[in-house]
Amino acid sequence: MQKRIIASTLIFFSLFITSVSFSQGRNRIKTIIVDAGHGGSDQGAKGDYSTEAQITLKLSMKVAALLEKELPQTKILQNRTTDIFNNVKEKAAFANENKGDLFICIHVNAAPAIRHSQITGYRNKTYYTGKGSKRKKHTKKEPVYKVWFTPNPRSGTGTYVWAADRGQAKENAVSERFESTEEVADAPDPNSPELAVISRLWVQKYFKNSVRLASMIEDEFVKIGRKSDGVLQRNEKGIWVLQATNMPAVLIETGFITNKEEEYYLNSEKGQEEMTQAIVNAIISFKNLLDGTRGAPADAAATETGGSKKK
Ligand SMILES: [Zn+2]
Repeated sequence: MQKRIIASTLIFFSLFITSVSFSQGRNRIKTIIVDAGHGGSDQGAKGDYSTEAQITLKLSMKVAALLEKELPQTKILQNRTTDIFNNVKEKAAFANENKGDLFICIHVNAAPAIRHSQITGYRNKTYYTGKGSKRKKHTKKEPVYKVWFTPNPRSGTGTYVWAADRGQAKENAVSERFESTEEVADAPDPNSPELAVISRLWVQKYFKNSVRLASMIEDEFVKIGRKSDGVLQRNEKGIWVLQATNMPAVLIETGFITNKEEEYYLNSEKGQEEMTQAIVNAIISFKNLLDGTRGAPADAAATETGGSKKK
């Protein structure tokens, strides 16, 4: 019985997906949300002379501007364009209400300073044992430490996708989307078992697409010579905003603000231009992949359709 329900649900689902795919045509990413991490009262990680919130704002302004230029058919929305604080719930709600198809969070990483200690000498410490007439005085030698910290040399980029074991939060967000969207005609009852299966499949699809986009972003970073930690998942501390948005979502750690060179790079015009171009290149490749154009050169497309090659 259970199996039959699942089977019919899957048939229903594949028909449903087919119709959605056809109705959406070849422009599957209509709205991109660019989220500058932190801001206002929450400046995020701190470097020698800049904060994470300052860098993420500058970078996301540039990313949004370049996306607007390169993808004129796509609506580009930013969570913040000034130094203000939005909590993660507001950020997720903004992305969901605007029916984003892609959620890009820009952040800067930090690593704790490294603690060092060294024995610089000894001092005598007095202590007592026993009570009354048995009370005895003792002394013992105790090392004296000098403690100091040096900057953590950790560097590199990493793009996070939500942890797979946090799927439930995402499923709820996806279900909500079905409740509110008009783009899906005849959407099933949000409380039906069919919807539970469908939203789970959407979640898997979003997850797969998030990982795809994340690896494309990291590949672009490698091309511009950045050290990359690749695609990451943060299991110990869920990235709430990635879980709560009902669309493929990635969180880009653009480098370590606690690393002198990376702080300099991320604040520099060159660094920002390069990072912006890399992020936008990845988004365009991803969009082309989804739209089925896969960045194929005009020549290749002409060959495929039997057209003549232009030189
Ligand atoms: Zn951050």
